[in-house]
Amino acid sequence: MKNLRFYLATFAGITAKLLLKLLRKDATSAPGKIAYKICPDILKEIDRRCRFKILVSGTNGKTTTNNLINWIISPDKTILSNLKGSNMVNGIISAFINNLKKSYEIACFEVDEGSLPVVTKDLKADIFVTTNVFRDQLDRYGELDRVKDLILSHINGALAVINADDPNLASYSGEKKVFYSVDENALSRLANVTLDSWFCPVCNSQLEYTFYNVGHLGKYICSQCGYKNPESRFLITNIKSEDGSFVFDFMDRENGTKIQDIRWKVGGIYNLYNVCAAMSVAMLLGIETNKIKDRVETFTNKLGRMEEVEVYGKQVVISLVKNPIGMSETLKVIADDPCPKAIVFILNDNAADGKDVSWIWDADFDILSEVKNIRALFFGGKRKEDMALRVKYSSFELKDFEFIDFEKDLKKVISLEEAHKIYILPTYTALFKTKKIVESLKKT
Ligand SMILES: [Zn+2]
Repeated sequence: MKNLRFYLATFAGITAKLLLKLLRKDATSAPGKIAYKICPDILKEIDRRCRFKILVSGTNGKTTTNNLINWIISPDKTILSNLKGSNMVNGIISAFINNLKKSYEIACFEVDEGSLPVVTKDLKADIFVTTNVFRDQLDRYGELDRVKDLILSHINGALAVINADDPNLASYSGEKKVFYSVDENALSRLANVTLDSWFCPVCNSQLEYTFYNVGHLGKYICSQCGYKNPESRFLITNIKSEDGSFVFDFMDRENGTKIQDIRWKVGGIYNLYNVCAAMSVAMLLGIETNKIKDRVETFTNKLGRMEEVEVYGKQVVISLVKNPIGMSETLKVIADDPCPKAIVFILNDNAADGKDVSWIWDADFDILSEVKNIRALFFGGKRKEDMALRVKYSSFELKDFEFIDFEKDLKKVISLEEAHKIYILPTYTALFKTKKIVESLKKT
């Protein structure tokens, strides 16, 4: 009977997938939703078919980290993964339906923090990667402490790969754990205004920082109880920044391995954390260092996370923004780029974006005043006026800008002669439309 349910569920899921493909609609969630309804135990079956399981969770960086792990360990292994960022239960089951096999050597899933209770009940991870905890969609997830507890309490005895530079996550008390961290570098900051959390998770006193890399990720110590970054086994160090990309060394201190001069084409310090987490997992899986280096150097982002597309001979950079830290870090990357540019902010408030757009007030828009050669500035999306107002209240002098209907006007924006590069910063629901428009322009 149980088997019958499973086969009915996969049959219904596959049918849904084929229909959606025929209609050219997205099939990253609906097939799983249908299959899950018919067979609520389907995650157990997925668990049974996957020999080794890796889960990735945290506020930012899940999609990039998950894609990187996949990129490094493929193509010689059969992997099951939700690469397109669909990270709730339905997305994970859809990934299975869309790539149905009797068995997989490795499963690697990014899991939405809110979906961890349901997912980890049936999927038993061998490795659990935590990225970071920032304020994000508070109407959905609640405050930082709650999110931290949500993540740490669902590691369930897996080997935890933990960001040592996040004071909240580093307090994890489980026994099976390894830490990773990113060294101070030219882009680290000594003062930072977008701090979400700077209190000691042990005694609640204020933490003191030597430097900040991203938000509250950095080198910290509590002067009251002495709580500080744990010693990390994996470390990215000797970081040089060149034209928005990086060259760095990666170390595994436990076995003395060092991979030198890794050329990493993706900008943003936050992406150094993502690549550090992914390389740590690759080392734990015993992948050869030559291969790790080669794969990291050939990785390109294709999912709207600093994704670069060439249209009309110009670089169009699309970067999803969904919370204060993500926005601030993206602005830092733009500030690091001297070329003549246009910037397009697209703010929506649909359910998947989070109805509450107040997070934009916690992002550090003062960074905009450090950006050189802004040739044009646009605001689009359902809440474009809120976004413009937010920028107006920063130290950036907002004079010339335009409100646009981005679905109609992106072509015009990209055609602007005076801008060599176009940065488009959409929220979640605007991302897919933006990508579709840019892809279609690429073909014309
Ligand atoms: Zn303390």
